[in-house]
Amino acid sequence: MPSPDSLRSAIRDVVDFPKPGIVFKDITPILGDAALFRDAITLLAASAEGQKIDKVVGIDARGFIFASAVADRLAAGFVPVRKKGKLPWKTCQVAYSLEYGESVVELHQDAVSPGESVLLVDDLLATGGTAGAALELLDQLGANVVGVTFLIELGFLGGRSKLGDHKIDSILVYD
Ligand code: IMP
Repeated sequence: MPSPDSLRSAIRDVVDFPKPGIVFKDITPILGDAALFRDAITLLAASAEGQKIDKVVGIDARGFIFASAVADRLAAGFVPVRKKGKLPWKTCQVAYSLEYGESVVELHQDAVSPGESVLLVDDLLATGGTAGAALELLDQLGANVVGVTFLIELGFLGGRSKLGDHKIDSILVYD
């Protein structure tokens, strides 16, 4: 199994992005390096080891990049959770709070059948609002969520507490 250390070294901290006071974890150096990107997918896919996954669900937008590659690795389908207004078919919706204001995420109503085994993947867990909303959508469709996996977890924000009693794996944790 690859070591996560080289992934950690490749992540770039961008100060004051997208607004003053925020230190943004930029994962694009991982995407642009063939070996690192493959290692990231190997580590994320390993969180579902031994389980049959029907669908890997990715969250708009960086989550798509990782989740679709993990889906291919696990021979599973890929399902996007998108921001409001982007999905063309009938959707279910969940609103959640941001630091300032509110956001809405959507899922196609037929994207997951009741009882299907799902792995939820995103690039980064911060406050947990986004992943928590995605889990609510999956709950509405009766999905069997077997795990939630992040490349990065900002542990000091305590986002895990918003994700119920699901199995949560993070490749890199920042405390
Ligand atoms: P949360 O809802 O506060 O947990 O924020 C997580 C969402 O915001 C994820 O979908 C991330 O893609 C995005 N996000 C928040 N902070 C960062 C960051 O520092 N780097 C990359 N994505 C981030």
